[in-house]
Amino acid sequence: MKDKFGRKINYLRISVTDLCNLRCRYCMPKEGVCKKKHKEILSFEDIEKIAETFVSLGIDKIRLTGGEPLVRKGILNLVKNIGKLDGLKDFAMTTNGILLEKYARDLKKAGLKRINISLDSLDDEKYSYITRGGKLEKVFRGIKKAKSVGLMPIKINTVLIGGYNDEEILDFINITKDENIDVRFIELMPIGQASKWNEERFISNEIVVNNFSELIKVKKDNSSSPAEYFKIPNSKGKVGIINPITCKFCSNCNRIRLTNEGKLKLCLHSNDEIDLKKHIKNKDKLKNIIINSIKDKPKAHNLEDGKYITKNMVQIGG
Ligand code: SAM
Ligand code: SF4
Repeated sequence: MKDKFGRKINYLRISVTDLCNLRCRYCMPKEGVCKKKHKEILSFEDIEKIAETFVSLGIDKIRLTGGEPLVRKGILNLVKNIGKLDGLKDFAMTTNGILLEKYARDLKKAGLKRINISLDSLDDEKYSYITRGGKLEKVFRGIKKAKSVGLMPIKINTVLIGGYNDEEILDFINITKDENIDVRFIELMPIGQASKWNEERFISNEIVVNNFSELIKVKKDNSSSPAEYFKIPNSKGKVGIINPITCKFCSNCNRIRLTNEGKLKLCLHSNDEIDLKKHIKNKDKLKNIIINSIKDKPKAHNLEDGKYITKNMVQIGG
């Protein structure tokens, strides 16, 4: 599928729930989000139907996200059914890793190829603070298990937060020395909970490159990846920086999102949504709506003008 700017759209991110077993301070309100009624969210059968339709139209990469995808009951079945779709080349999940030790083996067996893990601190107390109670050792055990069962390559995504984890950058980079793991620093976006945060929390991830002269730029693994990659000479993994605000990657954007309520989002940074759930019973109509909607994917976001989305990431699937 191509949009009207000629961009090939082949990557779908599916949010399977907006519930989560953590309460990261920049993402979730302390009290969590209200559990939706069954009929308000897509059933697994609905998700499978929509995914199948997208794959038949040329989507070849799917990522499951949330909320925390591993808290949705029956997730392994969904993974199994999506994993066997003909034409799907890449199938991944973004998780906080808390339940990964328990699920890694079965996820791999069910057809998941790889995993991204969100991890903002390597210090027990700081991790517990930012996630409001998360246990870091569980994430480490999850990563170890994911590696041992071959859910590779593993990427760690770290949101850089001024005054919180900016002094841990070197520790994160050092992970890439001996482990075949990429660590990617992502700039905090002032959306949802984080929109109320003080300016000093928002730091540019340029500091990663500027302060660690050992890092050498390496070629991107694919042109639509939003990350710029660097490497310490002879290290096993890479260091990525993802800079959604100042450094736009819109001209190469190949992704679209499906929310757990069945809304199609053509751009993460737009409030616009197209309801796919109501057309789920009519396959042809669903196909046409998808094809026509994709054409209207916005050319670029307007974050520089302060036009941020009103929802929390947890409601969209970051
Ligand atoms: N629960 C899973 C996890 O944490 O990996 C998947 C969903 S979470 C919403 C996806 C990603 O969005 C996480 O890496 C999280 O750090 C990121 N995120 C959430 N709010 C953000 C914000 N305001 N700015 C930047 N990244 C954010
Ligand atoms: Fe949950 Fe992920 Fe949001 Fe943290 S970032 S609260 S783990 S959804």
